Amino acid sequence: MTAAIIDGKARAAALRAQVASAVAVLHAASGRVPGLAVVLVGEDPASSVYVRSKARATREAGMTSIEHRLPATASADELLALVAALNADPAVDGILVQLPLPKQIDERAVIQAIDPDKDVDGFHPVNAGRLATGIAGFVPCTPLGCLLLIRDVRPQLAGLEAVVIGRSNIVGKPMAQLLLAESCTVTTVHSRTRNAAAHVRAADIVVAAVGIPGLVTRDWIKPGASVIDVGINRTDAGLVGDVDFAGVSAVAGAITPVPGGVGPMTIACLIRNTYVSACRREGVTPDPAI
Ligand code: NAD
Repeated sequence: MTAAIIDGKARAAALRAQVASAVAVLHAASGRVPGLAVVLVGEDPASSVYVRSKARATREAGMTSIEHRLPATASADELLALVAALNADPAVDGILVQLPLPKQIDERAVIQAIDPDKDVDGFHPVNAGRLATGIAGFVPCTPLGCLLLIRDVRPQLAGLEAVVIGRSNIVGKPMAQLLLAESCTVTTVHSRTRNAAAHVRAADIVVAAVGIPGLVTRDWIKPGASVIDVGINRTDAGLVGDVDFAGVSAVAGAITPVPGGVGPMTIACLIRNTYVSACRREGVTPDPAI
C-alpha cells in the first residue's frame, strides 16, 4: 500500500480563503473588522518568524493585525499590564502571546491573565475545561488543524481507535479531547508508556506530537491507518517529523508530510478562531462551514 499524502498546505489555503470570505460578509453586515493582537517578548528568531507569518495571514484574511513588541528584559508586570489593556480594548478579538517567554516571566500567569473569550490560542485553563466538558470555547490551533485533516480522510470517526502520542497541554491533551468528542476510543501514549508500539498498532488514527525524529516506524502502523505527524524536528537532513515518512507511507492509508502537513493548518486555525471570536462579540453566528 502507498498512503495518500494529506496536503495540509492546500487545506490551510482553502480554510484561509473561507475565513477571508466570511470576514468580508461580517464586515459588510456589521462594519466590524476582526482584530488579532500578537505580543512578542524578546528577539527569538524562530518566534519572530512565527509572529510575522501570523500577522501576514491575519491581514490577508481582511482582519487587523495589532503587533506589540517588548524587550527581552521586560518584567512580568509590564507584560501583564499590556495583556490587561488588550483585554479591555474592544477592537481586539484575539490575544496571542508568543511562547516561549523569557525566563523571568511565568508563562502560566500570563496565559491565565488573558480573557478566556479572547484566548484564540485556546491555552487558558477555562478553555481547556470547556473543551473537556463540551462547552464552546477556543480549541488550541494545532490539534484543531489536525482534526480538520483527519475529518477529510475519515468522515466517520465514531468508534474508531485513535492513539495520540504526546501529552502536552498545547497538542497531545487537547487532541485526545477532540477525538474523544468525536466518539473515538482514545489512548494517550507518552514518555512513560510501556510498549508504545503495541498501542499504536491497534490504531485507525495516529497523531504523533513528541519531538523525536522518526520515532514512529513502519512496524508500529496498522495497514490503512491515518497518520498525522505534528513533529517539527530540525536535523542535519533538514526538517523532519516524528514519523518515519518513507517507511510508514508504505503501510498507512493516509499520512501528512513534514513540512506541508500540520504546520500550515496551525496559522489557518488561528485566523479561524479570531473570526469566530469577532462573531461571538458581535452576537452573530459564525459561518458553520468554518
Ligand atoms: P512537548 O515537549 O511539550 O511534549 C512532548 C510529549 O512527548 C510529552 O508529553 C512526552 O510525554 C511525550 N514523549 C516524550 N518521549 C516520548 C516517547 N519516547 N514516546 C512517547 N511519547 C514521548 O512537545 P509539544 O509542544 O507537544 O510538541 C511536540 C512536537 O510537535 C514538537 O516537535 C513540536 O515542535 C511540534 N509542534 C508542531 C506544531 C505545528 O504547528 N506543526 C505545533 C506545536 C508543536
